[in-house]
Amino acid sequence: MNQHDADLERQEREAIQAEGVGSSCEREAIGWALAGHPVIPVWWPEPDGSCACGNPHPGPESRNIGKHPITELVEHGVSEATRNAILIGRWFRKFPDANYGIQVGKRFVVLDFDSETSLARFKRALAELGIVLPVTIIVRSGRGFHVWLSVPENVEIAAPDFIETVKHGNAYVIGPGSLHVSGRRYKRVTPRGTPIGACPPALLERMTRRGPRGPVVRTGGKVPAGNRHAVWVSFAGYLHNLGLDREQKIHLMLALRDCAFENPTEKPESKAREIADWYEDKEISHRVTRQPA
Ligand SMILES: [Zn+2]
Repeated sequence: MNQHDADLERQEREAIQAEGVGSSCEREAIGWALAGHPVIPVWWPEPDGSCACGNPHPGPESRNIGKHPITELVEHGVSEATRNAILIGRWFRKFPDANYGIQVGKRFVVLDFDSETSLARFKRALAELGIVLPVTIIVRSGRGFHVWLSVPENVEIAAPDFIETVKHGNAYVIGPGSLHVSGRRYKRVTPRGTPIGACPPALLERMTRRGPRGPVVRTGGKVPAGNRHAVWVSFAGYLHNLGLDREQKIHLMLALRDCAFENPTEKPESKAREIADWYEDKEISHRVTRQPA
C-alpha cells in the first residue's frame, strides 16, 4: 500500500469512528466481517416493492428483488466478498440503504427455510431421527428462517428432503438488518454473540453426498477398517453434545478404539485428537476430513 492509500484508509477509519457507523446494516455487515465472514453489498427493495437496481424483475425473477449483488461494487458478486471493514464502509457511503449478503463459506452451512411450516417440518424430522440441534445462530428472514451450522471443510453438501435449501461454499445469505421486500427486516432470533454450533454428525451424514462408506459391517462386534473414521467422528460428536471436554473426548475415543476397532493400532491417538479438535475449535476443521480414514 502506498502512502496516499494508507492516509486515505486512516482518514476513513477516523471518519467512521467520529460519526459512528451509519445504518444498522452497515454495523451488522462489519460485525460479520470482523467475525471472519466475508460480505457483499446487495440491492434493497424500495418502498413501492421495486428493486433499487432499477431493473424490472418479472415473474419468477421477483424473488431476487433486494437480494442480488450490487455489481457496480462487486463485479463478480459473491466471489468478491470481503472482510475488509474499510471497504465495506465505502460501499455503505456510496449506497447508504444497501442490504448485504454473507458468504456462507466451506466451513459452514445455512439451512434456509422459507416459512414457519417448513421449519416445523424440519423440527419434526429431527425429533424422529433423535437429532438435537446445538445452540447456534438463527436469523428470521423475510418469511422464514436461516439456521447456521459449522461443518468440516471438504464435505460435499446436498439438502435432504426435510430441508428446503442448504447453502454452502460460495453461496450467500442476506444478513440480519437487511430489508426484505415484505417490509420486514432480517433479524437475529438468537442473541448477539451466540456462536455457530457444530452440525450434529447424524444430520451431517444426511447432508453429505459421500456420506459414510455404507452400513457398518458386523464382524464379531469389531468396527471394520472402512467405518472406523466415521464411527469416531459420530462418537466424538455424541460426546461433544454431552458437554465433555477435549481430553475426556480423546480418552473415550481411544477406549472405544481399543475395545471395538479392527486393527486399532492403525488409528493413532493423533487422529483422535484431530477429530476432537474439530469440535473444540472449528478453525482447524479441515484437518479432520483431509486425512483418509
Ligand atoms: Zn434488482
